[in-house]
Amino acid sequence: MKLAQAISRLGTETAFDVMARAQQLRAQGKDIIDLSIGQSDFRAPDSIVEAAVKAFRDGMHSYTPAKGILPLREAVAADIEKRRGVKVSAENVLVVPGGKVTMFFAIQLFAEPGAEILYPNPGFPIYESLINYGGAKAVAIPILEKNNFAFSADDILERLTPNSRLLILNSPANPTGGFTPRSELEKLIKGLDDYPDLYILSDEIYGRMLYDGNEHASPLEYESVRDRVILLDGWSKTYAMAGLRLGYGLWPDTLIDHATRLAVNVHSCVNAPTQYAGLEALTGSQDEVEAMFKTFDERRKVIVPRLNELSGFKCHAPSGAFYVFPNITGTGMDSATLQSRILEEAGVATIPGTSFGSYGEGYIRLSYANSIENINKAVDRIGDLLSG
Ligand code: PLP
Repeated sequence: MKLAQAISRLGTETAFDVMARAQQLRAQGKDIIDLSIGQSDFRAPDSIVEAAVKAFRDGMHSYTPAKGILPLREAVAADIEKRRGVKVSAENVLVVPGGKVTMFFAIQLFAEPGAEILYPNPGFPIYESLINYGGAKAVAIPILEKNNFAFSADDILERLTPNSRLLILNSPANPTGGFTPRSELEKLIKGLDDYPDLYILSDEIYGRMLYDGNEHASPLEYESVRDRVILLDGWSKTYAMAGLRLGYGLWPDTLIDHATRLAVNVHSCVNAPTQYAGLEALTGSQDEVEAMFKTFDERRKVIVPRLNELSGFKCHAPSGAFYVFPNITGTGMDSATLQSRILEEAGVATIPGTSFGSYGEGYIRLSYANSIENINKAVDRIGDLLSG
């Protein structure tokens, strides 16, 4: 067999491996608390489930337009206008099976040997994986604890070259929970005037999960770059719909047809009942999701001080998403060793920071999308392991 070389460059998302190992340990009768995978522990609200069931019953079993059903794309455009204050057309919205698909398409459109793509490190591991897969040079933007895990405009601008084609931004961020304030984004946008050919992939999948009164800022709001912003968002995190696989990209005029053609080649369209679920999510009451965000905030306020009690841990309070990314260098163990011991010996699933890139060494990621009871139990167990 002679496989295409590119496949050897494709990375993965360790969270799925850790989840599988946790399930294996559970099957052996071990009690595992899973703080690894990045998904809500809530169910999608009933109204959303009912909308999908109704669509199934009403016979919505056919292909839909590749971009998605028009009412859903219109609802997305209205939501973008409401939340980001920018009028956009439903024609520029491409509904896809999950947030990852917009990422894949965007990187696919720009990656080739000789091209440079900048991505956050530590960051969602699929960015680096797909850049490498496409044969482009993956240029890491260090996301540092000393900057509260916000990206630094200067760090980005000094890495740009005439070969830079795509800049990936993610705020609020996985795995750090970091959030980049508007002032830093504005500094970056100003600097990008010197790079008119550079496109931006803005991953805003955690855009509504912000705490302490922080307000989300999107590059889409800035006219000087608007026609080169690809906005990635979706339903997985906000509406607890991760397994239903629904996301969207808002694409500039220059790219929407290319992205749609990729969709036609890959998946034709998203299954229709899920699209109706997504429509209900955007247009129905937001009370349940607001209550979920409030609960995440309460858990955040528990997990951060508890982790800071652990010897060798230093945990920065995150501003968004549902992750904490404590610095564990004081334990004397590297990320992978500590993560493995915490899972195998203490029965708590977490992710090593290095799964999110080389700048993740010295950290582990814990998701607090779990009950306060489990969070407390998990921290107690880690504490016992460290003091044992
Ligand atoms: N972007 C970021 C930053 C994420 O953390 C994730 C999922 O964890 C995604 C995109 C992918 O979302 P989806 O599950 O909708 O594909």
